[in-house]
Amino acid sequence: MLSNSFLPRLTAISLVCLAGLAAAQEQTLNLYSARHYQTDEALYANFSKATGIRINRVDADDAGILARLKAEGASSAADVILLVDAARLGKADIDGLFRPIKSAQLEALIPAALHAKAGPEGVTWFGFSTRARVVVYDKSRVKKTDVDSYEALGEPKNKGLLCTRSGSHPYNLSLFSAVNEHLGDAKTEAWLKGLVSNMARAPKGGDTDQIKGVASGECGVALTNSYYLARLMRSAAPEDKAIMAKIDVVFPNQQSWGTHVNLAGAGVARHSKNLANAVKFMEYLASPGAQNYFAEGNNEWPAVIGLKLNNPALQAMAGNGFKAENMAASVLANNQTKVQQMLDRVGYK
Ligand code: FE
Repeated sequence: MLSNSFLPRLTAISLVCLAGLAAAQEQTLNLYSARHYQTDEALYANFSKATGIRINRVDADDAGILARLKAEGASSAADVILLVDAARLGKADIDGLFRPIKSAQLEALIPAALHAKAGPEGVTWFGFSTRARVVVYDKSRVKKTDVDSYEALGEPKNKGLLCTRSGSHPYNLSLFSAVNEHLGDAKTEAWLKGLVSNMARAPKGGDTDQIKGVASGECGVALTNSYYLARLMRSAAPEDKAIMAKIDVVFPNQQSWGTHVNLAGAGVARHSKNLANAVKFMEYLASPGAQNYFAEGNNEWPAVIGLKLNNPALQAMAGNGFKAENMAASVLANNQTKVQQMLDRVGYK
């Protein structure tokens, strides 16, 4: 039987234990994420499992996250910011939303072309996966050689065939900004005008909707990020198999500047109160396990070179690889305002 004098001591010890437990449980990371892929759940869960750090996620699109960070200012709780477009990463950088970090590990693993330029205080953001903006077409009525470049999509021969999501979506804005860099202003605006006059329907929906539009016959040709197509290629659902039976893919501009490639990446938030955990998470994203989630889970290409890929859809789509465009994020970011004005002038919604 416990004596009276023992009880208070036991309680005090229990309280100390509980406090210790609570502190361990309070290891958290506030992640502002524009990634919208269900398979990312495993990516985050694995980090928590390995480190005991719980992830609080704030989900919004790129623009929503950037607006929120600006509104929150120095009181923002964000530790890491994940965005899905190189230009948005570049813009966030210009706006001072990232805190540069020094990580020998990240700089060794992520190729220089896929992260922000190192400054005296370190690097502001790193890309962790890449995706190509490819062309899909109805193989029963469109010839591959008629749609094997971005320029061709604006030519009269493709009248009434083209479907895209909104021109102002970051995926398209970055593609158009890249084309602008190659063609110059006058030719880019003429090309965008050509795209508008070739539309099979007004822009609507996401990339998967464009693929479905091609399969249904409403569209003859469309633009999509590669991972949306790979998702359908890997699907066992009969309706997805039916879609894949109707369409084919082409990596545009293999004879010229290469297919436009965008990236998903992250940086530590400028006002993070949790730098150690933030860097830990960034380094985790470059680990073989996490890189594998990008490739296996969401059908993106890992940023880290030399990892063994075991994704049959990416293999089937790109075979032994493709010629990718070489374009700095800063260039994409710089052209966007100008390109948006062109879109407004040519009536590209
Ligand atoms: Fe996406």
